[in-house]
Amino acid sequence: MVNSKPVNYLRQLPAVDEIMRSPELQKILEQNPRNLVVNTIRQVLEKKRRNILAGQEKPASQKELKEKIIAEVLVQVEKHNIPGLRRVINATGVVIHTNLGRALLSKSALQAVGMVASGYSNLELNLDTGKRGSRYAPLEDLLVELTGAEAALVVNNNASAVLLALGTLARNKEVIVSRGQLVEIGGSFRIPDVMGQSGARLVEVGTTNKTYPDDYRRAVNENTALLLNVHTSNYRIVGFTRETSVKELVEVGKEKGIPVMSDLGSGSLVDLRDLGLPYEPTVKETVAAGADIVTFSGDKLLGGPQAGIIVGKRNFIEKMKKNPLTRAIRIDKFTVAALEATLREYRDPSSALANIPTLRMLAATLKDLYPRAKKLLDMLNELSLPHVEFNLVETVSRVGGGALPTAELPSCTVEIIPKNMEVSELASRLRKGNPAVIGRIQDDRLLLDIRTVQENEDEQLFKAIAKILRDAG
Ligand SMILES: *Cc1c(COP(=O)(O)O)cnc(C)c1O
Repeated sequence: MVNSKPVNYLRQLPAVDEIMRSPELQKILEQNPRNLVVNTIRQVLEKKRRNILAGQEKPASQKELKEKIIAEVLVQVEKHNIPGLRRVINATGVVIHTNLGRALLSKSALQAVGMVASGYSNLELNLDTGKRGSRYAPLEDLLVELTGAEAALVVNNNASAVLLALGTLARNKEVIVSRGQLVEIGGSFRIPDVMGQSGARLVEVGTTNKTYPDDYRRAVNENTALLLNVHTSNYRIVGFTRETSVKELVEVGKEKGIPVMSDLGSGSLVDLRDLGLPYEPTVKETVAAGADIVTFSGDKLLGGPQAGIIVGKRNFIEKMKKNPLTRAIRIDKFTVAALEATLREYRDPSSALANIPTLRMLAATLKDLYPRAKKLLDMLNELSLPHVEFNLVETVSRVGGGALPTAELPSCTVEIIPKNMEVSELASRLRKGNPAVIGRIQDDRLLLDIRTVQENEDEQLFKAIAKILRDAG
């Protein structure tokens, strides 16, 4: 019986109990909490009711309606079981991709995290004395060793490191910074806003493209607490430019008796030229140039867990440790474990290059990437799909994470040109697949950059693409 009046139609909606009793639901009732199933049925029924009242639901027989509801309940329960945070294959070619979780941990870091996650640890217990210890101690020793700084502290992320440093050293005082360095890093992290939050007053000097040591010199007065250098991270000013180097800033600082801080953003502990990248001062070089405080991220070029690392002169670090804010932005044991293991890799730079995924991906050459891309291409071509074309193309991948924005890493991509759907539709289906695959759209093509695909993901990547393209055929 088909009844097209909304109110009559509403009466055809089955009761929750009736759906619960249907044979199709027995399996999911065994595998899921009863409450979850009941709530899902209620939600589906409620949605149907609203659709009917809004005239959006086409009239159907009572049997058809019930079948539709059951099918929808099965889909929704299944959806509830997919974790919100899940594995993604990064085929964008952007190595430090903030939206995809930035750095992947080395094997040793993973082991360390597993160790503290599954057992108790001496996180804040000194095993020699039996007294309370510091969670920062193992990290501080390594950071001092690797950067040549006097002391170190690690907090939640680099944004909080900057906040803590400014709040401790320059609260209600002035901080001098170049106009060319008032950057927005992403996710609305703006240097001027962070300075405001810390209680420090910002004094801008110079112009967008040129700032000389004399600009800082002239701005110094009795309220000046800090000279700040900020790595411009995600952009470069090219052409007619002049930046004041950390070294020059240190000279001004010495002259005037004012400390110098450098926010490196993506601080590196190795010479990036060893990875075939352009030169950038390392953390050690910045410390050696005389900066009193240096801050950088744990999960950018360093390739470790999310963290904000602060190294520098002991008296300043000690002051920061005593700031109550430090307790609010402290790192957890997983970070301590992963960061310690990551830093240990840096004791031997060749081991760091071999074992830290971020460095390994950055260092990969065309010669490394080509065979993998070619294999994927061949496998895709063997599918003999008439509605899609595959090509191997050389492109460039990016470092990402606001590091070296202009650096181009020659890379190998497999290009997919679908002929029976929009490329954005293909990208969307791949994104929603399992595992999710994220590529890069360029001129009506989908590019899959092999550099950021992990070697053990090659097979999964092929299967995910094959499934979606076959389903679309
Ligand atoms: C990325 C970046 C930050 C923020 O670091 P997070 O670890 O993401 O909090 C701060 N300053 C600079 C210069 C950066 O590049």
